Amino acid sequence: MPTVGEFKLITAGRLIDAKGGPPIDNGAILIHGSSIVAVGRSGEISAPEGADVQILDYPGKTIMPGMVDCHTHHNGFGDGRAGDELTLLDDEILTLQSARNARSSLYSGVTSIRENGPKNYTMFRLRDAINQGITIGPRMVLCGRPVAIIGGHMGYFGSEVTGPNESRAMTRQLIKEGADYIKVTATGGTTRTSFPLKPSFTVEELVAVTDEAHKFGKLTATHCVSSQGIANSLDADVDMIIHCVYKDGDGTDTFRQDIADRIGEKGVYVNPTLHVGRSGRWKLEHKKAAQGLTSEETATLEATYRNNEVRMEDSRKMIEMGLKVITGSDSSWGDYQLGNTVYETELLVEAGYTPMQGVHSVTSDAAKALGLDDLVGTLEAGKEADIIIVDGDPSQDINALWNVDEVFFAGEVVDRGSFDSKTTVRQPPAF
Ligand SMILES: [Zn+2]
Repeated sequence: MPTVGEFKLITAGRLIDAKGGPPIDNGAILIHGSSIVAVGRSGEISAPEGADVQILDYPGKTIMPGMVDCHTHHNGFGDGRAGDELTLLDDEILTLQSARNARSSLYSGVTSIRENGPKNYTMFRLRDAINQGITIGPRMVLCGRPVAIIGGHMGYFGSEVTGPNESRAMTRQLIKEGADYIKVTATGGTTRTSFPLKPSFTVEELVAVTDEAHKFGKLTATHCVSSQGIANSLDADVDMIIHCVYKDGDGTDTFRQDIADRIGEKGVYVNPTLHVGRSGRWKLEHKKAAQGLTSEETATLEATYRNNEVRMEDSRKMIEMGLKVITGSDSSWGDYQLGNTVYETELLVEAGYTPMQGVHSVTSDAAKALGLDDLVGTLEAGKEADIIIVDGDPSQDINALWNVDEVFFAGEVVDRGSFDSKTTVRQPPAF
């Protein structure tokens, strides 16, 4: 016999299962423990005869899967600090900051994340702490540390390697430590000692990583802020291209249709990270209005406008081509704070997705991109009950995703504390 309160029956104005169909009016979902038992229309599903069931009704609201953010930096503060500065902090501080970020993210309705670049063992230890019930956070897909060349992007986090042998060895090392996937920086980035317009690893080195990772059933993703890095990653059978910035070696923006076609042919996921640039722009716009900008900052702001436009245009092309473009926020990198994943989805919608496609980009498609789709990403029987209740209909207006009313994680309501703790995680737009 089922024990008391074992079942939860949640009903609401509509339900989005994120399987591709339209929202179900008067939707309902039945949960048993941490699992989804049934999904359908209110009145059509019920707990077994005699079972004790808790009924939760959210009139006029939307039941949907918890959000999945494919790209996070939990060590970050989102206050403009560069990674070069972040890495100078002690691991204990970074772990505590990561715990704060994980909470913000979960409160905002993100129930799964993929971490793209922490220092040393910080995220492994945070996940241990969550598993021990010391703190709370979303499900975590961890890389351990990003793999970089000497002086390469995020090499300061602890995994610099040279040559195919060391690349393969580091992949094995990270898997031994508990990595769920392997993140590689295939070009330089904001790291002071790196070269963003140049590829970092050779194709042979990238192949050593992907070959080893795939052997153990692990996915791979590469950071690419210039075109040759994307091309090399495709040669090495990488599973996801992060940023996917089409820049020539001399810094010229040239959308590379040939490369985009190869991304499509290979079915590789693309995580454009559009809002992280906009968040920097917003910060400068705030400063401009409040106290004015230096000539250097004015030049930066101008460059940011241009850059944001190019990135939006390239993403529009990739979305029109039907490439597998998904939400990955890149927060808390730069000025973009965790708990604000929706800004990235909003820009994908602006770049051409319908609001429903936007929802998929941060639920079902994102879960597929991370290999989590057996577990989460859609609402269907057998999956984990990671569910959010949203005020409004995100299949009509993506901004409804900001209005998260309740978060269920593995079937349990997340205690999100005070009104302030729920709302202050949102960063204000420019104006
Ligand atoms: Zn990142």
